[in-house]
Amino acid sequence: MKRITVAKGDGIGPEIMDATLEIMKAAGAEIIVDEIEVGEKVYLSGNNAGISKESWDVIRKNKVFLKAPITTPQGGGYKSLNVSTRKFLGLYANIRPCFSLHPYVDTKHPQMDIVIVRENEEDLYAGIEHQQTDEVVQCLKLISRPGCEKIIRYAFEYAKQYGRKKVTCFTKDNIMKQTDGLFHQVFDEIAKEYPEIENEHWIIDIGAAKMADTPEAFDVIVMPNLYGDVLSDVAAQIAGSVGLAGSSNIGEECAMFEAIHGSAPRRAGQNMANPSGLLQGAVQMLIHIGQADVAEKIQNAWLKTIEDGIHTYDIYKEGISKQKVGTKEFANAVIANLGMKPSIMKSVSYSNNAKLNLPKYKRKSPRKKDLVGVDLFVNWTGSDPNELALEMKQLESAEVQVSMITNRGIKVWPDGFNETFCTDHWRCRFKAQTENFISKEQIIQLLQLANSKGIDVIKTENLYNFDGKASYSLGQGQ
Ligand code: NAD
Repeated sequence: MKRITVAKGDGIGPEIMDATLEIMKAAGAEIIVDEIEVGEKVYLSGNNAGISKESWDVIRKNKVFLKAPITTPQGGGYKSLNVSTRKFLGLYANIRPCFSLHPYVDTKHPQMDIVIVRENEEDLYAGIEHQQTDEVVQCLKLISRPGCEKIIRYAFEYAKQYGRKKVTCFTKDNIMKQTDGLFHQVFDEIAKEYPEIENEHWIIDIGAAKMADTPEAFDVIVMPNLYGDVLSDVAAQIAGSVGLAGSSNIGEECAMFEAIHGSAPRRAGQNMANPSGLLQGAVQMLIHIGQADVAEKIQNAWLKTIEDGIHTYDIYKEGISKQKVGTKEFANAVIANLGMKPSIMKSVSYSNNAKLNLPKYKRKSPRKKDLVGVDLFVNWTGSDPNELALEMKQLESAEVQVSMITNRGIKVWPDGFNETFCTDHWRCRFKAQTENFISKEQIIQLLQLANSKGIDVIKTENLYNFDGKASYSLGQGQ
């Protein structure tokens, strides 16, 4: 028996959770349920995290969490429980299988069967934002080597265990050469360890267009957090319905399983909602806790129920569906089909699924790191970059000199274009002369001098060479 934590959530949550638990029980799942309360009631009782400390203790003890959707109340101050659960518990991998149920659920993509593997903790979702000048705000995009290695290895291990043929990586590394560049580089490194699995990289924009148009060209797709957030909804929607997809959030210690849709408050309490999304999350959970035989039994019974045309209102279609049913009736139909397989759609087999081989990340020995310059970010309300350059030149010393000024990334000095639109946020790059390195003291002196001259430096970024290689972006047009 495996103890799991269950939260019934808000809106349609309790109905779809009851249906899911009943199906699991009837299929012989060996689970003991510890129920906790999270979501709207907890938020509105004055706890703006939406969860009590005692509930965290239960989640951390059981390590496996099946969660129905919750309603985050409108208005300020309420923290998203989904985001905090993922980050507190280190759930770095978000896995979302999106496959069509043609011809039983309407879709333009009858052959579609893809799995989106989304990095779940970093990227722009670190949520580190600052207003820097009157005109400019910033959000930090953080990509780490451990983050990349873990998620990319997960994608290849998943492909291996589920007999998938290809892993595709989506990034925008033609623009973000450092952050997305690292993701792509780690993808190429890890792909070499899996010669039996095909690998490819697409620039995200054309990759996304291709996925929306010809999803059958893809198998497993791995990507950084923001792209994965957007494209996993696109993939679920074009497969048939967001109401049909489940997802897992996997960490080294803990895991959370859920439907991808929300709490659909307008449908609550009417025995209308489709429990399939949460059931798909539960199937992934059963595989995760080593009960693949039960997962397989449920999945085949569910496929047969869909194939039989027994449909909830959201996927019901005259001419395709046979019977429009409510949440409970749908669950009963799945239960009645346990032990059976679909006859037209392909049945699933999870019996060969071993646990994924995911070694803990080992920190690499540090590379040689040399400080070669500094970017001073300056709030300046002038318009002629040549004037700003003259001010910056006053800060130069024999060792450290201004080499470039950019505005929103594009070089405006030397040799800028008059046409370039400029804001009040300027990056002034100071570099050591020739091959020399600079010291932290020299940066402090630079800042002191700037301060004494009334220059409004709003932040600095150090420029480093790692193992002798420049590891910072050039100015666009440089
Ligand atoms: P939603 O997913 O709840 O609903 C969108 C539409 O899909 C609605 O028309 C609804 O009727 C339909 N729908 C969704 N799930 C269905 C199901 N199982 N069966 C039948 N129809 C279904 O999105 P929303 O309306 O934008 O959000 C409602 C609430 O859910 C918000 O408070 C939001 O914050 C929350 N939410 C929670 C989660 C989560 O807990 N994981 C995720 C997304 C949204």
